[in-house]
Amino acid sequence: MFDLNSFLHSYFIGKKQAAHWSSKQSVMTKYIFVTGGVTSSLGKGIIAASLAKLLQARGFTTTIQKFDPYINVDPGTLNPYEHGECYVTEDGAETDLDLGHYERFLNTHTSQANNVTTGRIYQHVINKEREGAYLGKTVQVIPHITDEIKRRMLLLGEHNQYDIVITELGGTVGDIESLPYIEAVRQLKWEMGNENCLVVHLTLIPYLKAAKELKTKPTQHSVKMMSEHGLLPDVLVCRTEEPLYKDLKRKIALFCNVTQDAVIEALDADTIYGVPLEMMRERLDVICLEKLQMPMGKEPDMVKWKEFLNKLRYPKSKVTIGLIGKYVELQDAYKSILEALIHAGAMNECKVEVRNIHSEYLTKDDAKEKLHNVDAILVAPGFGSRGIEGKIDAIRYARVNKMPFFGICLGMQMACVEFARNVLNMPKAHSTEMDPDTDQGVICMMEEQKTITQKGGTMRLGSYDCAITEGSIAAAVYGSTNITERHRHRYEFNNTYLEAFENAGFKPVGKNPDTDLVEIVELKDHPFYVGVQFHPEYKSTVESPHPLFVAFIKAAKDAQEQRNATAKRTFEKSNA
Ligand code: GLN
Repeated sequence: MFDLNSFLHSYFIGKKQAAHWSSKQSVMTKYIFVTGGVTSSLGKGIIAASLAKLLQARGFTTTIQKFDPYINVDPGTLNPYEHGECYVTEDGAETDLDLGHYERFLNTHTSQANNVTTGRIYQHVINKEREGAYLGKTVQVIPHITDEIKRRMLLLGEHNQYDIVITELGGTVGDIESLPYIEAVRQLKWEMGNENCLVVHLTLIPYLKAAKELKTKPTQHSVKMMSEHGLLPDVLVCRTEEPLYKDLKRKIALFCNVTQDAVIEALDADTIYGVPLEMMRERLDVICLEKLQMPMGKEPDMVKWKEFLNKLRYPKSKVTIGLIGKYVELQDAYKSILEALIHAGAMNECKVEVRNIHSEYLTKDDAKEKLHNVDAILVAPGFGSRGIEGKIDAIRYARVNKMPFFGICLGMQMACVEFARNVLNMPKAHSTEMDPDTDQGVICMMEEQKTITQKGGTMRLGSYDCAITEGSIAAAVYGSTNITERHRHRYEFNNTYLEAFENAGFKPVGKNPDTDLVEIVELKDHPFYVGVQFHPEYKSTVESPHPLFVAFIKAAKDAQEQRNATAKRTFEKSNA
């Protein structure tokens, strides 16, 4: 794919860059790119996050960014069936769910700059073209799009804030849409040198049961495809069901042109949280540091991580949580919630089994049958009418039966609707999102959102303050009355009804101090009934499990114990 234009451009820019890199060598940020081959879903995000974790544990400052090759400007407009959960950062960016893994592993925040899509790149270049920035020039994929990709790839390292920036490239090598990214990395490697710019390629070594053999051919092909575009990997991480024996590693190294120690085995793991330790055993961090000609730092400090893993792997009890949502059949749709439940389970030394309950098929009549044997319910966030009545029926069941209830965003909004309908005698109560004509809109559109017609980025997004009432469950759980949490919604509790709710025991215990918007609700005389307008799941990490989730699992444990005690008493009575 030789293009003279691009060559000349890279050559001259490259010369300049090369001089620049060598003059800054000692303090310069180093870059690791993680590409994927053979098939999608191999877990590039987890490998990138694991490598970053190990480097961080060695004392290096590191961050991860993701480049997605689709044309949506951000994933905010993609539905979860298309792309799984949309993850929201502190600064309100709607991003790919892999950023959630980065934050959960690294326990640091990411931002808008950590997620770039092809749409965003093109938007920028086209805007510049309209402004006349390229006047007289033909604007092309190479060099204009690739230059913009390169600029963004280097952006996070610009102020030497990080020792190492890891960039995950979405998609699989060989996809047409990935080509400009591969070309951009090729150019960067040429400009910066292999010691400053490393490519880790994640690939698959399938095991053929019939032949009882591990097969290297797909990996060879994916590396060959990359090399056709002028890019060679430095390290190969091989996903496999069976251990890679020495000769096989040698064969992979030989045919894929990498050093033998750079063939890393990534066996299927029982939990994603086991992967950093597996990668440590395989010396992925050491090999990357060697190739980047960096010092090794200190021995990785993974004490906290191991403690977490032990608790996760050897729980002392088990609770069952009913997850009520409309995308429950989809693993990735509630990713952060599921991970937050895992973190909270480990904190409680308790295995959390999640029972998926499809809100579309839950009715008042079968709520008992579906919910009586779970220990607590979590009603998920969401948009639109589908499955909404099922959510309301589930919340009613939890309220009446004093079952621990945790409602997130739409889950909290529907708790308000349920309470209004069944306690406050407001039969038409609803959110105006589902019923725009209701005159009992207990949840309604925020004024400032009403004028916005364009989709995407039009929500209340990112971190906002919340002041919590002393004496509430939330205040005890957070251990503070001033917190911040991340948001992603358009509708709000309608404060016109506040008094009626409060008088009936439904308490707004968290409010935004500037706008008075209701952020947290609780119910009097209920062991654990908490609804939150924000998304606490985004902030839960391995090293800092979210306190609300921890308290929720604790409440589920308590409820289970109480149920068992009651059952025991009933049994003993009937046998007396
Ligand atoms: N659809 C609701 C709103 O826009 C809730 C959003 C959510 O659950 N994230 O306010």
